[in-house]
Amino acid sequence: MDRTPQLVASHFGVKGDVLQLGGVAATELVERYGSPLYVYAPAVFRSKLERLRRALPDFEVHYAVKANPTPAVLDFFVQEGCDLDVATCGELSLSIAVGCPPSRIMLAGAGKTQDELLAAARAEIAEIHVESVDEIERLAKLAPELGRRIAVGLRLNPGRVDYGEEESIEAKPAGYGFDEEMLEEATRAVLAADGLELTGLHVYFGTQHLDVDLMVAAWGHVLALAERLCALADEPLRTIDFGGGLGVPYYKNESEFDVEEFGRRLAPLVARARRVPGLADANLVTEPGRYLTAEGGVYLTRVIARKHSRGQEFVVVDGGINHHLAATGNLGHVLKRNFPLALANRMGAEPSLQAEVVGRQSTALDTLARKAKLPAPEVGDIVAFFQSGAYARSSSPLQFRSQEEPAEVFAENGQARLVRKRSGETDLLRGTILDPSF
Ligand SMILES: *Cc1c(COP(=O)(O)O)cnc(C)c1O
Repeated sequence: MDRTPQLVASHFGVKGDVLQLGGVAATELVERYGSPLYVYAPAVFRSKLERLRRALPDFEVHYAVKANPTPAVLDFFVQEGCDLDVATCGELSLSIAVGCPPSRIMLAGAGKTQDELLAAARAEIAEIHVESVDEIERLAKLAPELGRRIAVGLRLNPGRVDYGEEESIEAKPAGYGFDEEMLEEATRAVLAADGLELTGLHVYFGTQHLDVDLMVAAWGHVLALAERLCALADEPLRTIDFGGGLGVPYYKNESEFDVEEFGRRLAPLVARARRVPGLADANLVTEPGRYLTAEGGVYLTRVIARKHSRGQEFVVVDGGINHHLAATGNLGHVLKRNFPLALANRMGAEPSLQAEVVGRQSTALDTLARKAKLPAPEVGDIVAFFQSGAYARSSSPLQFRSQEEPAEVFAENGQARLVRKRSGETDLLRGTILDPSF
């Protein structure tokens, strides 16, 4: 079944013919804040978070900042009690700027610069995840000037994991983490560094998993690695970070990740690991991004033209690849088909047209939806793209073609609140196209 009706029914709503987001009409939001626009319904973020916490009662839920680093979104998750996982100094600064205590931040990342390591160590964040011997040595050099030991977690790139009947997660080469075959060598390197304290393990199995069998096997594998690490280090672990990767369905043939089933099947594995003395008190951490934010965000665009070209219909909207790379299918290999979409001001109308929904960048890359079935859109109608709360605005080439960057709005309980203004707008009519000092 098409995902759009499901998303509308479970998270949003329709009044008259108009899509309601957080109890506010999409038409009103676009009129008030301009188009294109990112709208977030924090009630949806909250329901996803609560569901995950209920399903995984043994786990702390952190938030992976990269999925949506909008300060208001970070603030939301910090207020809800989530720690933050960051991968760059920029994400670290944003996290601190919204008031997240450094003791609730962990840093991972394939290529941390010396400045990043220093900033993180000085800020006394909870844990820095080391990913190469060189990084261990560079970090250790910083300890003397800080006058204390720096807490580190070992980031491992997992090996092959078999699951189900005859399936397996293949071991992949990666620029991040130590290959798990290097567990001993990496552990020794941390233990040998005077200034470092080995406190954790971090494994991330990639993104957008919907298969419970796969995820149970993956996280079971992390527990086994934790047991080995503990034995090698001969010390208890403070944190075991299982990464994120819990998926959300985008397409017709996908079904929801059954997080309750996942929790039930994981529980005995966790119970067994708890009997290992060095793991008994470890904080079990998951750091999802997509699962928490994707469904709570909607990208609204307005139709500015209709075209017919060599047998194909085109709907040209005022947004595009510059705001939403993922919807165009150009953000990695995971999402290639159409995002769920709808004509937000004519929700009741039957689809009567099959069209390409394109942006204004005059490149075939800038196709937001292919063969989309819509009720023949007219100029001024609003096309809404769902599942746009994660890896959407922030993962897009916002500077491409020097267009405005969409505003962002929180909508909840019938109230809307601007959380980021539009920017970069070149307003020819009002003569502000160039900075006069240029
Ligand atoms: C991207 C990333 C995440 C978040 O992944 P999701 O699939 O959005 O849950 C978590 N941890 C690490 C290390 C990541 O790189």
